[in-house]
Amino acid sequence: MKTIHHARPRLAVAALAFFLGSMLAAGDAHGQASPRPQGLGAGTAQPVTPFRIFDNLYYVGLDFVCAYVIETSEGLILIDTLFGDFAGHTADAMEQLGLDPLDVEYIIVTHGHNDHYGGLKTMQELTGARVMMAEADWALMEETIRRNGEEDALGVPRDMVTEDGGTLTLGDTTINLYVTPGHTDGVTSMEFSVFEDGEEFEVFMWPGPTLNSNDAPALENFVATIRRLQDLARPDVWLHSHPWSVSFFDKYERLAARSDGDPNPYVNPGEAPVFLAQRLEDAERRLADAR
Ligand SMILES: [Zn+2]
Repeated sequence: MKTIHHARPRLAVAALAFFLGSMLAAGDAHGQASPRPQGLGAGTAQPVTPFRIFDNLYYVGLDFVCAYVIETSEGLILIDTLFGDFAGHTADAMEQLGLDPLDVEYIIVTHGHNDHYGGLKTMQELTGARVMMAEADWALMEETIRRNGEEDALGVPRDMVTEDGGTLTLGDTTINLYVTPGHTDGVTSMEFSVFEDGEEFEVFMWPGPTLNSNDAPALENFVATIRRLQDLARPDVWLHSHPWSVSFFDKYERLAARSDGDPNPYVNPGEAPVFLAQRLEDAERRLADAR
């Protein structure tokens, strides 16, 4: 076990006020999906102080988009890599947490949008890690990079292809991987265990809970994914790849303020079913309109 600094992490003051305001307004602590807070986007993104969520799970992302580190007995797994000026932020964040970025063995990119892969080249070259993405989103990323003429800045050689129903094992940790189309064709969802004081909790991460299109085929994929997740995902801990939709920083505030023996606020088994039911109702309504 590596040494972790015990100073209580704090969000940047502006981000904190912003999130508290937006989360109180949204009032979605019980799992209802909340919209992106007004004014928050890639262009306004700010780092937040990295923090430990569970014994083996850390947050190394921004206020706008998530990045996580899973610590295993044989090294680290980085989930998503941020973008632009923040391409090296996950490495800085790991160092602040007492983790060595050179211990990253795998980078899983959840899907082929720039805010998740923009830091991939930087992080892959720094760590030498293997990179995993679903086939469709390798293609989406490569096409986007080519179209934008960003091959030199962002291009990485295609590496491991995430298979639906596959697993990734590193040391004592196994991640179950699912390809869950909708937001993109190759959104990779993940299931793994986290621990706190010897207690085990199941995490399910769905990095594609929103849809960018009202086209019937995209909506059909999205509806099928939601129905599948309703069977598959009954986690203790429900995570996405953007923080607002799971009240991520509201939970963080409660985590930072809790007393010894209080439960971890990220543990909320009721959250995923409510969220998925709401998303299904919304998507089916949009699908009916589209037909
Ligand atoms: Zn996206």
